[in-house]
Amino acid sequence: MAVAEKQESVLDTFKPYEPAPGEEYMNEQQLAHFRHILLSWKKELMEEVDRTVRHLQEDVNNYADPADRATQEEGFNLELRTRDRERKLLKKINETIDSIDEDDYGFCEACGVEIGIRRLEARPTATLCVDCKTLSELKEKQLGG
Ligand SMILES: [Zn+2]
Repeated sequence: MAVAEKQESVLDTFKPYEPAPGEEYMNEQQLAHFRHILLSWKKELMEEVDRTVRHLQEDVNNYADPADRATQEEGFNLELRTRDRERKLLKKINETIDSIDEDDYGFCEACGVEIGIRRLEARPTATLCVDCKTLSELKEKQLGG
């Protein structure tokens, strides 16, 4: 996969949300803002998945030289991993869009506090506040991750 193909992502280009003073957290406008980001991101990813699938199909050549075959297999595995990652991310995005629809978006899954607009803009699929995220990463490390 050529890095040159990488386009500017919606995650780098959207306009940050500016809440009015005293504005309620996750009101209709805020939910609409994040729904828009997530839907654009999803569309972007699905186009990427299409490209990966096309690559995989084009790559099915039979090389006589074992070295060429090995190189091809490496590329193949890399693309499969990419595709797997994309698929998992898409699933996560879909779940996040569901949580917006259910008016359940933007609050920490573990402790219930507001995750915060800026954090969600940096990571729209976040389900934990910074503290709980840090804690869960520490636990993962202790479990020998
Ligand atoms: Zn939390």
